Formats: sequence, structure tokens, C-alpha cells
Amino acid sequence: MGTSSMKNFDLIVVGASFAGLACARTAALRGLRVAVLDRKPDPGAGVRTTGILVKEAADDFDVPAELTRRVRGVRLHAPNGAHTDHWAPGYYFLATDTPNLLRWMADEAARAGAVLQWGMRFTGGEMSENGVVLADLGLKAPLLIGADGAVSAVARAFALDRNRRFLGGVEWELAPDAGLDPRFLHCMLDSELAPGYIAWAVPGVNVIQFGLAARSDTKSEPAKILARYGERLGLRAPKIIGTRSGLIPVGGALKRTSRGPVMLIGDAAGYCSPLTGGGIAAALRLGRRTAQAASDWLDAGGEHPSAVIAREAPSYAVKGLMRRALDLAPPNWVWNATLGTAAFRHLAHAVYFHKRGDHGELPYETPHERALAEDHLQV
Ligand SMILES: Cc1cc2nc3c(=O)[nH]c(=O)nc-3n(C[C@H](O)[C@H](O)[C@H](O)COP(=O)(O)OP(=O)(O)OC[C@H]3O[C@@H](n4cnc5c(N)ncnc54)[C@H](O)[C@@H]3O)c2cc1C
Repeated sequence: MGTSSMKNFDLIVVGASFAGLACARTAALRGLRVAVLDRKPDPGAGVRTTGILVKEAADDFDVPAELTRRVRGVRLHAPNGAHTDHWAPGYYFLATDTPNLLRWMADEAARAGAVLQWGMRFTGGEMSENGVVLADLGLKAPLLIGADGAVSAVARAFALDRNRRFLGGVEWELAPDAGLDPRFLHCMLDSELAPGYIAWAVPGVNVIQFGLAARSDTKSEPAKILARYGERLGLRAPKIIGTRSGLIPVGGALKRTSRGPVMLIGDAAGYCSPLTGGGIAAALRLGRRTAQAASDWLDAGGEHPSAVIAREAPSYAVKGLMRRALDLAPPNWVWNATLGTAAFRHLAHAVYFHKRGDHGELPYETPHERALAEDHLQV
């Protein structure tokens, strides 16, 4: 295809997930002509994440309540059957109906004016004098954003840094089960079955999400976690209704994330916590900031967006060090011995609640919350 028959955009976004859609919506609202392409057949297909939003993301980014379920506390389980509860007033996590959340985000981006194309895979492109040309797809633009996840084809095509260290995550979607205490994210610390990270059971939106992530040199087997912890968690008759899996980049923010008219955001740039594996908050926040900076650059002579994001992106330096410690996979007797100690509680609060104090038993605080919990228990 000659360049004259190309469709011109101001911005091409590769990858229509959290980072790409947040970026596309804001860019389109700001008047940029935005093309988004994704290899998925539909925005909610093939979800590869548990999809929990931390409170900071929920505060930054308004999402419809019917697509979320608030979870107030974290229950940590040791291999010996002991557990401890952690929570902080006013803090919560949002479990999400992730496929429908992504569909909603795609609709919002389209409503803002972005052109979304599904079933379209980026395989390569050329840098030109005025930006980037994707000859095979008939698209060109002065700026291309790679928001195509942990194993980024954009990074590879334009010789940018690529993620090298990963955790492998596997999750089963289980039918709702009244036995699981719905107030908590249940996290199992078990280095035999989830070396390098944890296993979890999340009381999600009409589903229980049960999974684990572990060092990528080991095999993740949810069945073994279910056999060891299912009964302790109160799961009565676990019925698998779906699966999710994916790679979590845990090497920290990459250094060379831009070159000329191409830049990376989200997991593609390594913006994912090496400690917790959480990346959605950063994907949403930096996706939107990238769009703001892109519009300032294109329309108002501002700095290149890659310079703005390089300043604002987290480096994950401390979390990177903690990741090295977790990679060592402390033997299970260490988890058993430390779970209830004051030092461990302090650490857990720093990780999950950002030091928002330590509290006793998690109450059902509001009548609304109680009613929600009772609804859930009747499933
Ligand atoms: C098992 C698991 C559980 C997780 N749980 C959580 C959690 O609970 N909370 C949290 O904050 N984080 C979690 N994470 C991390 C989180 O999912 C990521 O940080 C987040 O999804 C990053 O968003 P993104 O938009 O950068 O990339 P992604 O969500 O990975 O999306 C990349 C998109 O690019 C598309 N794409 C890829 N290649 C191409 C191509 N060549 N052409 C076109 N399109 C392409 C894909 O189809 C996809 O839509 C989890 C990760 C895993 C693997």
C-alpha cells in the first residue's frame, strides 16, 4: 500500500487493555485522531488477569459499581493452617468483572471518538520522517504507543527494552461458593506450591477467582493449591467454570521505553510491581497521562510524552529488592513461624495497605455492606 492511501491518525495505540484504552479515551477526548488495534476478537476476550483494582486506582478512575465488588480485608494463610486478618478503615480492593470492565472501557474510548479495531495484530512498522507507518495495516501517525503487554511486539519491532523476568500466573474461575468468607482477599503463602509469590482466592463478581503465581521456572498447579487449602477456605464443592493465565513482568520499569515516535506504556514498559504483580493502577494512570502529554506535544509544543512519563513512572527500586527476597522462596516453616509476629503484621500492612495502621477483627461496618455480604452468602 502506498503512503498516500494510508489512513492518517495523530496516535496509534497497539493493545486495547487497561493502558491502551485509558490512553485512547483521554487522547480522543482531547481531540486527537486515535486508532487502537488489538489482536483480540473482542475487548473482553481472553482475559489474562485477576483484575483487582487497588483503592488508589478506584479513586483515580471511575468505574461502574455493578462491574465491581468491594473487598475490605486481606486474610493471609500459612501452610500450617493458621491465618491472620488485615484491614484498614476506608481502604478496600475492587474485584472486577474484568471482561465487562474492559468492554465498558472500550465503549468509553469509542464514545470519545477513538477508532477501535479488533482482530488486528501488530507485526511491525517503519519509522518515517513524520512518525510511524504500519504499511500492512494501512495506518500512519506521528506517534505510536505500545500498550501490548508483558511480551511486547512493539518493543521487539522497534528495538526497545523488553521484559526478561516474569512470574507465571494461572487462575481458575470457580462458581460462587457461600463457604468462602467474602470480606477478604485470601492469600496463601506457600513456597512449596507457589514459590516466589502466593496463591489466592478472591470473592469476585459472581465468581470466585482461585489461582497462583510463581517463579516462571516452576509449574503453577491450582489443583494442588485447591487440594491443600480448599477445605480450610470453606470451599464446599469447587466447580471450575473458566481459566485465565498470563505472565507478570517483575523486573521493574524498563530503561529504554521510547525511540523517536514510538513509546511503551503499561506492562510493555515494565510498569508492574515486582513485589505484588499489580500493574492495573499504573496502566490506567500512566495511560491517561501519556495521552495528556501527547496532546500537549502535538498541539501545544510541549515536551515529548516519553520525557513526561519517564519522570512520572515508578522505578520500583525497593519493590525490586523485595522481589529478590521472595524469589528465594522462604521454606514453609519460615511462613509458619513468622505469620503472626508483629514484624510480619507490620510488613503486611505496608504492602497491602500502605502503612495505614493495623486493626483487630474486620467488622461488617455499614448496613449496606452487611446486606451485600448476606446476599452473597445466599448464593
Ligand atoms: C494471572 C495474573 C493476575 C494479575 N492480577 C492482577 C490484579 O489483580 N491487579 C493488578 O493490578 N494487576 C494484576 N496483574 C497484572 C495486570 O494484569 C497487568 O499489569 C495489566 O493487565 C497491564 O495492562 P496493559 O494494558 O499494560 O497490558 P495487558 O492487559 O497485558 O494488555 C495487552 C493488550 O495488548 C494486546 N496485544 C498484545 N500483542 C498484540 C499485538 N501484537 N497486536 C495487537 N494487540 C496486541 C493484547 O491482546 C491485550 O489486549 C495480573 C497479571 C496476571 C498475569
